[in-house]
Parts: sequence; structure tokens; C-alpha cells
Amino acid sequence: MKRMISLEEAQSYVIKNVDALEGENVLLLEGRNKVIAEPVVSSESIPPFDNTAVDGYAVKAIDTQGATENSPVSLEMLETIPAGKTPTFTIDQGKCSKIMTGAPLPDGADAVVMVEWTEQSDNGLHVTIRKEVSEGQHIRQSGEDLVPGNLVIPKGTILNAAHLGLLASLGIYEISTVKTPTVGIFSTGDELIEGKQPLKPGQIRDSNRFSLLALLERDGFQTVDFGLIPDDEEAIEETIKKAETSCDALITTGGVSMGDFDYVKVVLNRLGRMQWMQVAIKPAKPLAFGIVGQLPVFGLPGNPVSSMVSYELFARPALKKMSGYTEPYRPLFFGVAAQDFNRKPDGKTHYFRVLVDVTQETPQIQSAGHQGSHQLTGMAGANALAILPDGIGTTQGSKLQFLFLD
Ligand code: AMP
Ligand code: MG
Repeated sequence: MKRMISLEEAQSYVIKNVDALEGENVLLLEGRNKVIAEPVVSSESIPPFDNTAVDGYAVKAIDTQGATENSPVSLEMLETIPAGKTPTFTIDQGKCSKIMTGAPLPDGADAVVMVEWTEQSDNGLHVTIRKEVSEGQHIRQSGEDLVPGNLVIPKGTILNAAHLGLLASLGIYEISTVKTPTVGIFSTGDELIEGKQPLKPGQIRDSNRFSLLALLERDGFQTVDFGLIPDDEEAIEETIKKAETSCDALITTGGVSMGDFDYVKVVLNRLGRMQWMQVAIKPAKPLAFGIVGQLPVFGLPGNPVSSMVSYELFARPALKKMSGYTEPYRPLFFGVAAQDFNRKPDGKTHYFRVLVDVTQETPQIQSAGHQGSHQLTGMAGANALAILPDGIGTTQGSKLQFLFLD
């Protein structure tokens, strides 16, 4: 039997054989979750001008000194300043202007009294103020968030919604990002069919392609669905050739274990430099990875749960690295086993499909159902994989490590 290698060894073999793709300019809204390829430096101040953080009255703070509920002060009202308009009057002593959130502060004002502490009198010619404000109160100063020359977004940042907002506020609507890989996928296996027709003896329906396409989409990759390819050398070769011209990476499922009739193996060996690995994990022990021409190819196992776990542990990190991520792996968390988890020693680390309840003080981990590598129901109910090192498992109340799947 072929030697098993550790998960870390297999992951490091895969990850070191892929590189970040080149940069490309994209429209702002296409940038979310992409990695920015060039740093962005501010050319403007944000906020661009001093403005009010509240609806109220722009005043000189000194004019409100001593104002209380019982001994209010009265100021003369000059004008109303809506957001988007420039003030026409200067605030001199004893005067004020009504001002709306976001409107520019008029000259001479150094504070804003919230409207809640005021009322108009004298047909709007005067304003009664019932609270003292200090200098600068309720004013958002120009450049408080950014001034010209500030580094807004360092190169390598994964863009989130707030980054996109920041860029828009600076008038930047096109950005240079690391290209996100387009990933081709096909299933192999003569037992597989797609369609509603009744299954003939020995047949099952292709499910992996649908799970994997959904995972690729979840992770923001473009996909090319090459469908279900029969176990036929010519058909497999033709599809791989197509993927070489249209994709940045290729995923196949099935035909990487020890079975006969696995023509995908024959073809990949002929066309590329492939490593056929037996990884010391369960599920997802068999894995093929290699380069065909320039194309990274992930030969994921055929068992439905294995194909998904293999995607999470090998393909996803590599595709993230190709997308420019510097931390391509999912973080590991600690929780507590809410039940016993039994397993047998077999030299492998087991990844149990579990449901982690994070609303408790410590995350509580319970089985998500069937644990066979062919049993998708357990995977469907899981939000995480719990890591059970080689041995006999663990008892309720013990500490367990897990990674989230979503
Ligand atoms: P293989 O790796 O081709 O030996 O397949 C291992 C197991 O996974 C077999 O029981 C296959 O029938 C099953 N299998 C392979 N490909 C798929 C697929 N695309 N969808 C569902 N099951 C599959
Ligand atoms: Mg097969």
C-alpha cells in the first residue's frame, strides 16, 4: 500500500505549486472579497469640510455658557443650512443658524446644540437654548477620517464593503485587484448519470459537480461546468485541453482512488506532472494534484463527502492563494464536545461533520448525523468539521478543535 502523508505535507505540496494570478482592473462593485493589487493613497480629506454631526443650531459655545432647563439663553436666528448648501451668514456673538446633519459649519460657529435642547420663539426670529455646549461639540472636523497622503488601503487587503465605500467616497470607481481564478470542473465515472430518469442497476446520479460548483460560487470563483465526462480517454483528454485554454484551474472528481478503469488518472499522468497522494485523513484520503501545461489540476475523490472535504482542505486554500490571499487557510477554533465522539485508531486524523452551537459561552460541538464519506446528509447538516486526532476519540466535555464551513 502507498505511504500515507500528513495533511500538512499534502497541503504544503499543493500550496507551493500555485501562485497568485496577475492583476486586473475591475469596477468597484466587482471588487468585494478580492485582493487589492496596488495600495490606495488618499488624495482628499474625509470629511472634506467641517460639518455638524447632529440636527441643531450652530453657535459660539461661549454664548451657551450657563444655559440650563431653568435658565435658558436666547440667540438670534440667522438662517437654516440644509446638507449640501453653503452657509451665507457668519455666526457672531449672540447669533445662531439652524443646521442639518452633514451641512457645512458656518464661519464663526465652534459648536452645535442639538435640536432636542432648543425651541424657536418669536416666530422663528429667536432660539431658546437649554443646554450648554463646549467648543467643538457635535462638530465633525475636516480630515478626521483621512487627510491627503494617508494610506487608505494597503496592497494585499481583502476588500470588504467598507473598503468599497471608502474608495467611492474618494471618487475611485475602478481598482486594480488580483484576478480571481476561473475554475473548470467535471465529474467522471461510468456509473454516473444526470437526470430524472429511473436509475438502471448500478447507476447513481452525479452529485459532486453540483456541491462543488456551489462551493466555488460561494467562495467567489468563476466556474466552467464541463459536465459529466465518461470514463473514456479521448473525452477526458479533450475536456482537459479545453480547460487549459479557458480556465485558471481545473477540478475533477472521481477516479483518483485505487480502482480500475480510472482513465482520468491515465490521461492526467500522460499530460501533466501529477502527484497521487494518500493523505492521512478521513474522509478525503485520496488526492491527486499536479500541473498540466500551466493549469493546476485538483483530482478530488469521488465519494461525495470526501470531494467536499477535499475541496475545503486543498482546493479552496490553493484557489485563495491564486486570488492573492496571504492567509489562505481557514482558522481553527476550540470548542467542547457535547457528546462522545468515538473512532478507531487507523493512523488518520478524522474530520467529523458537526454542528457547532456558538451561542453558548464555549462552542458546543455535536455530530451532524451520518459520518460515512458517501453520506451527504451528515454534511448537509454540518456547519463545521471537528478534528479528531488518531486514537479512540473523545468523551463528552473534552476540548475539540474545529473549522467552520461556510
Ligand atoms: P471513485 O473515486 O471514482 O472510485 O469513486 C468513489 C465513490 O464515489 C464511488 O462510489 C462513486 O460511485 C462515487 N462517486 C464518484 N463520482 C461521483 C459523483 N460525481 N457524484 C456522486 N458520487 C460519485
Ligand atoms: Mg470512478
